[in-house]
Amino acid sequence: MKQGEHHSGPCFILSPFAMRWNQSTLVKPVIKEFPFFVLFAFALAMGALADMFHICDIEDLTPRYVFGLTCRFMGGIAVALTLAYGASCIIAATPRRWIKYAFYTIATIALGTFLFIWFNFGTRLTPEILNIVFETDLNETTEFWATFGTSPGTMVALAGMLGYIATIRIAEWRWAQRQHHAFTSKTRNILASCAIVACIGYAVVFWLIAMPFLYGGKQRSALNFGCDAVSNTILATYGVKQVGDNTQDAIIATQEAMRSHPICNDQDSLTVVLVIGESYIKHHAQVYGYPLGTTPRLAQEKRNGNLFVFNDMVSPYTFTSLTLRNVFSLNSMAMNEQWYEKPLFTAIFKQAGFYVTMWDNQRQYMQHTPFQANLNSFIYNKGIIDLCYNRMNAKCFDYDAKLIQDYKKSSTAPHKHNLAIFHLKGQHFDARERYPKTKLFQVFSVKDYTADNRQYMTDKKRQVIADYDNATLYNDHIIRKITELYGSGNTVVLYLSDHGEEVYDYRPRSGRDDFSYGTDIQQGISHQYCIPYIVWCSEKYMETHPDIVNRLRQSINRPVAIDNTCQLLFHLAGLETPYYRSERDVLSDDYHCPPRMLNDAVNYEETMGR
Ligand SMILES: [Zn+2]
Repeated sequence: MKQGEHHSGPCFILSPFAMRWNQSTLVKPVIKEFPFFVLFAFALAMGALADMFHICDIEDLTPRYVFGLTCRFMGGIAVALTLAYGASCIIAATPRRWIKYAFYTIATIALGTFLFIWFNFGTRLTPEILNIVFETDLNETTEFWATFGTSPGTMVALAGMLGYIATIRIAEWRWAQRQHHAFTSKTRNILASCAIVACIGYAVVFWLIAMPFLYGGKQRSALNFGCDAVSNTILATYGVKQVGDNTQDAIIATQEAMRSHPICNDQDSLTVVLVIGESYIKHHAQVYGYPLGTTPRLAQEKRNGNLFVFNDMVSPYTFTSLTLRNVFSLNSMAMNEQWYEKPLFTAIFKQAGFYVTMWDNQRQYMQHTPFQANLNSFIYNKGIIDLCYNRMNAKCFDYDAKLIQDYKKSSTAPHKHNLAIFHLKGQHFDARERYPKTKLFQVFSVKDYTADNRQYMTDKKRQVIADYDNATLYNDHIIRKITELYGSGNTVVLYLSDHGEEVYDYRPRSGRDDFSYGTDIQQGISHQYCIPYIVWCSEKYMETHPDIVNRLRQSINRPVAIDNTCQLLFHLAGLETPYYRSERDVLSDDYHCPPRMLNDAVNYEETMGR
């Protein structure tokens, strides 16, 4: 076949195999359908490009990490280009125009969906978002569209789709005006062919090797950075099945636990309280040595001898849902047990006759975001609720004190044994929204940090630190309010945070991210993962449980893994169950803390040189 000769029909695609091809064969579909090739690839690669842009924002990435990310983004873009190339071949090979329109429609929908999710939720399509779509009933759907139907993010998505369609029209019209749709130079044809082969090769290798490796992690399916729209959709759909299966497994494991017969040895009435804080890094707590008075009430309790401050606790993740699944479940992360393979500890308490209440100030907070839906689909699954709780809050509040008031108002006649769980908004970003602007809580301001004159420090950053410290002070007030709820009763309270948060502590950055510990990994871990872990005992509990109090005193310097919290709660509650493991109970003589892993990948002990 001579150069420039027109190819048409299936023989064009088969031509390489029929040995009737020359150096322009591979390039021809791209040249012929050039606007389509570029625009289709762009729509599919939009997510990868946005992720890249997002990462560019972050300072202090390690070179190794940048290399890994670049490979991922290039993979996403290569897959998008390969799919666009395949579609161009099909279009070039057939005279049926509707096929081209069908591909353009797919691209427009992909682009619109990406923009909608990205600008409304700040993420890619995740299994959790698909779950929201599949699981919401009509009421919730109406509520969803009432919230997002006219949001700025939705407007951006609509404008993006219209702009995209307009670009298609213009580009196709301009291209149709051109006479020659081929390279005339042999060298150009060969170079372009090599680029196509390399791109397809990279895409195939990326899919075959990298994708299962990157996305195979059972806990990490939500974090699909850098991939193209098609891979993203496949992964998210696969993830939905996995999330559903996992929750189902958790229900089965919890139902099985109902066959065990746990008993509470405490003959007296007893209240065990678990307070789950939010985004609290211990370095900003006075009781952990912070120079400012952020926890005056806890400090007082510590002086009184009622408070036991554990010094060596790290969270396994910097995401609420990933950490809390492993708090609620009885699994041992060190033994590679997944959260969904074991029952929830609340079910064991309920089975042992405890009256279990769950007052969660994050239950409706950002409930349409994947992060929240992710956790809620587990702890508020209809099958789980019956097995695990007696009562739950119906409303959420702007400030945590209102949640405690709501709990107080809703309290029924006292039960002999109680397990009360509070999940706070704590110091969740944006911390300035977390405390009432009253004299009592607006204590710290820019002037408290003027002595800090590190090069990157500005008054704006000092204000962010002040807000975080004020929210921490407010949190101190909340813990006091919770301990006061039970007056002179027989009560023990365990407080923990789901993860930490850095606030310009050692570099010009605040917040948390799981994809970079920064160039100083020890500082990164220290300021995002080291969380407070505190036990408070009422006077009566101190009197009636001298052995436990003694053990608490002796255990505060032991390393603790957050997934062993359930074992400590069993001990504090005097609960006898076949699920109790003394080697995981920080108060037991058999206790042994295994190496703690961060993000399933980093060995905390090794990295910190312990
Ligand atoms: Zn959190």
